[in-house]
Amino acid sequence: MLSYRHAFHAGNHADVLKHFVFAQTLAYFNQKESNYWVVDTHAGAGLYALESEFAQKNAEWENGIFKTVKSANLTPELKQFIELIQLLNGFETAKNTVLKTYPGSPKIAEYFLRARDKLRLFELHPADHKILLENFAQQSRQTKIEMLDGFAGIKACLPPPTKRAVVLIDPPYEMKDDYQRVVACIKDSLARFASGTYIIWYPLLQRPEPLQMVDKLKNLNRNNWLDVTLSIEEPSQDGFGMFGSGLFIINPPWTLPNTLGDNMPVLRDILALDANANFTLSHQIS
Ligand code: SAM
Repeated sequence: MLSYRHAFHAGNHADVLKHFVFAQTLAYFNQKESNYWVVDTHAGAGLYALESEFAQKNAEWENGIFKTVKSANLTPELKQFIELIQLLNGFETAKNTVLKTYPGSPKIAEYFLRARDKLRLFELHPADHKILLENFAQQSRQTKIEMLDGFAGIKACLPPPTKRAVVLIDPPYEMKDDYQRVVACIKDSLARFASGTYIIWYPLLQRPEPLQMVDKLKNLNRNNWLDVTLSIEEPSQDGFGMFGSGLFIINPPWTLPNTLGDNMPVLRDILALDANANFTLSHQIS
């Protein structure tokens, strides 16, 4: 049973980290002329109204994108990211900080893709799949949206005919077997397409599964990976709840370690909820 709805969390600290890194990766891919594919195995609804009942419930965006947009200490890369969020809100002036919507990964990908690139989106929840279709009402041959299990759907996308691809794997992990499914999916995907760039999102929790998953992913690709985490607060006394998030990236852009080295201290300071906020950044790039 699928109960997770991303609309409750859209624009939170984890989205800011994930979408900033996703945007950096897509901008890097655009530096080369050759075509590429973006595969988003867990696409969500594509665009979220921040005034909706869902988004207002815990107003997670207030401690995420809202703080980032309002920050006076942005790096050039974070400024560009904010401009993208403002553009997708239809603002004509970058000074506008009152966001009405927050884009999900599909809309961020659409922004970067050139006419010759392709977007493949999988979303299993019927309600979010329907909203995703509505958000891509002008769906061209460039974009294909399927209500399928993304772990299965990805198989038909790899290797892409263009031999260049960015794959985002962003499960809710509400089912614990998502951790094993990610590892199995990466193992199979690397066998089909070893040179793809795979971005895997994971939560920071007081339980072993996320970091065990990262160890297994490192073993699948020892030579070309980057791991970045951002914790925004001290883990709770009761042992529950997400205190941060991470991204494990296989075949990352070679520029990403430096970009994140410059930007993570700034993001940590913007998104910190207490003095325990921190980031980690490690990589192996051959
Ligand atoms: N990637 C989106 C973004 O960054 O804007 C957010 C995705 S959200 C964290 C995870 C989504 O995966 C949810 O919308 C959920 O319904 C969907 N989902 C859960 N299991 C899935 C599966 N096996 N295949 C495809 N979608 C799935």
